[in-house]
Amino acid sequence: MLSSEAVTHQLAAINGQHALIIGLAREGVDLARFLSAHGAQVTVTDVKTPEALAESVAALDGTSLTFHLGGHATTDVDGADVVYASPGVPPDNVLLNHARERGVRVSSLVELFFALCPAPILGITGSAGKSTTTSLLGEMFQAAGREAFVGGNIGRPLLGKLENMTERSWVVMELSSFQLEPLQASPHIALITNVTPNHLDRHPSMEAYWAAKGQILAHQRPSDWAVLNADDEWSLRYRPLARTLRFSLQGVVEGAYVAHAGGQEHVMLLGEPLVPTSEIPLRGRHNVANVLAAVAAAHAADLPREAMLAAIQSFNGVAHRLQTVAQRNGVTYVDDSIATAPERSIAALRAYEREPLVLIAGGRDKHLPMREWAELIARRVKHVVLLGEMSQLVADALNAVAPQYNAVTWASSMDDAVKQACDIALAGDVVLLSPGGTSYDMYQDFEERGRDFARAVHGL
Ligand code: ADP
Repeated sequence: MLSSEAVTHQLAAINGQHALIIGLAREGVDLARFLSAHGAQVTVTDVKTPEALAESVAALDGTSLTFHLGGHATTDVDGADVVYASPGVPPDNVLLNHARERGVRVSSLVELFFALCPAPILGITGSAGKSTTTSLLGEMFQAAGREAFVGGNIGRPLLGKLENMTERSWVVMELSSFQLEPLQASPHIALITNVTPNHLDRHPSMEAYWAAKGQILAHQRPSDWAVLNADDEWSLRYRPLARTLRFSLQGVVEGAYVAHAGGQEHVMLLGEPLVPTSEIPLRGRHNVANVLAAVAAAHAADLPREAMLAAIQSFNGVAHRLQTVAQRNGVTYVDDSIATAPERSIAALRAYEREPLVLIAGGRDKHLPMREWAELIARRVKHVVLLGEMSQLVADALNAVAPQYNAVTWASSMDDAVKQACDIALAGDVVLLSPGGTSYDMYQDFEERGRDFARAVHGL
């Protein structure tokens, strides 16, 4: 945590600074606005065209800056004091290489935020469950009457809120491996939900991905807290420097776990029952793990048990994550558009133990193994509608593990997919959009895909 004097000093350094921002996604907009408001001369460059970035450009209307869109030029680096890279920019980007060769400082929005934030930070990363855990923790702080700013990778920018933060507030921040990789700071409480193959399209190996996530622990102090998953082989390999709490669905750990008390399974915190797992409104065993993770982190933040309990009992989840968008003729339509990897679609399918399932799957492939997913689909899904670029890959994976499984149809659009699913589903069934691939083949992002699904459902 910085004294307000140190923050003033840091902010003064921005005044007059020549800053180059590479990548104008959500983060780039927040950063450009912030730097410009504090007197920096900002240039923003992105390989995407102004048309493709129209929304971000419009969001910066009225901010004084220079755009260089539709391509990069190494001359953009000339004269820059600092180059800020968005998390989507690969580390070997030409401009970043050029900046390093020239000795120009390379930074990021998250690094700047960590340097300026007066409040303690609770940072959350992991392969899956980040947003759920982050949002639940935000609710726990609220229930405890403690001021918390919730955001980061979850989409609500935090930099613009800095001025409202004090030493007594908290920041609950979702962090992706891309944001963590270059970061030379760690949060006071670091939570890793799990580490499983995901994003292997961007990270060269599982080890590299594991190490990138581990950055959240690398700069902690002994008085900080690490909260880690005890059930996950990769998480167990970390050697935290801070005090450590663990969470487990499988056994008793120093932290949060499940155990029977009074004939009922309970969430346990340090030996004491907190809430029966039957009172958790979220579906699926993976969400019990997310609750355990949040409880352990909330304990590290010194939140009272009553606040944890109240938040758990009233939390219904985050949009596009196993979110029920409609019930029609006894059929439940569920949006899990966030499931951009087979692993996540598996978690979604497992969340439904009894209901017959009609699955809408597809999207853009991330080069992840599909075998286990295909096996579960063949066993558990009564019909699958394929949509988007990776349809053939899913069909092939299904054919490889279950050649006799033929409840597969192809759709040409979201409307078509929803219509097909609706025609097949009977009362009591669940129509689940849990694609297993990214949305970039047809949409801007998974949120747009989820909204389109809900629109198509409501238009039935
Ligand atoms: P993230 O923010 O990491 O993308 P979310 O909390 O948004 O994760 O959850 C996205 C999806 O990932 C969920 O709908 C579910 O299918 C799956 N998921 C969530 N939590 C877990 C978990 N702890 N383990 C495995 N899968 C999970």
